[in-house]
Amino acid sequence: MSFDRHGFGYSKVGRGNVSPVTINLPKIGIRHGICLGERDKADLDGFWRELDEILKLTEKALVERYAYICSQNPKAAPFMYINHTMRGFNNKNISSVMKHGSQAIGLIGVAEMCEALFGKNHVDMSARNFALQVIEHISDFAKEASERNDLNFGVYFTPAEGCCYTICKKLKDEFGIISNITDKEFLTNSIHVPVWEEVTPFEKIDIEAPFCKLGTSGCITYVEFDSKIINNLDAVETVINYAMDNNIPYFAINFPLDTCCDCHYQGDIPSEGCPVCNSKNIERLARVTGYLTSDVSHFNQGKQDEVKRRFKHMK
Ligand SMILES: [Zn+2]
Repeated sequence: MSFDRHGFGYSKVGRGNVSPVTINLPKIGIRHGICLGERDKADLDGFWRELDEILKLTEKALVERYAYICSQNPKAAPFMYINHTMRGFNNKNISSVMKHGSQAIGLIGVAEMCEALFGKNHVDMSARNFALQVIEHISDFAKEASERNDLNFGVYFTPAEGCCYTICKKLKDEFGIISNITDKEFLTNSIHVPVWEEVTPFEKIDIEAPFCKLGTSGCITYVEFDSKIINNLDAVETVINYAMDNNIPYFAINFPLDTCCDCHYQGDIPSEGCPVCNSKNIERLARVTGYLTSDVSHFNQGKQDEVKRRFKHMK
């Protein structure tokens, strides 16, 4: 949560992101990178120029939407203000509450942006250094926009449960199938290491930690295990401690929790069926991005494809 310049400081109670806008980083990467075979070396001047134009547009969109929200009558949604669900209400106007929230500059697909520019994602150190400069640049822009508008701008690692699919589809329509960018049904979440990269949990935390400290309007880092991990709680504790030692603000561990709806067996149940009663009536609990969804089949096409490709960080 971004710092509140209007008095609540770092407190998270009764505040939130007002209305995020998400920047499609892969598109800027494709337009200035090597992935379409139009150039041998990325046009980084063009990249930075276009990013700055998009940032200005993002600021305008956030400020306009903020003004529109603040123009609403508080009586339209009294549950937002009674019982201090959202703090600061002066009994007159919504801006008394909304000014404490953050104007979130979201982003998606750092991995695909790097891939488009350089032909490699940010698991590679040189691409990672560039990606970090991009996020630092957005973070600096957010600080300046906060001053310009007297609002709390911040960098938001958009969960993108829906737009991971819709943005990828739009890129596919515009640029066709590009290897490691649009040759799947989703774009990689925010600054995450792509789900298919075979890294250890410690490597994943090492790569994502320097980015996370800039994601002041929200971020999550998780590692993916198989269900055997519940027999090794020391390993779980070691990984959690490693994440905390590296200042990951929001850390999660994913592991499959499949339940047989007939005999109630729980564990990692193969597609052939329940190992106890052979039933194929299985509910597969999984994390979309930030929260858990009762069954993978409820995910959209993009997130279902992502789940299939998730590497288990068990090395
Ligand atoms: Zn069963």
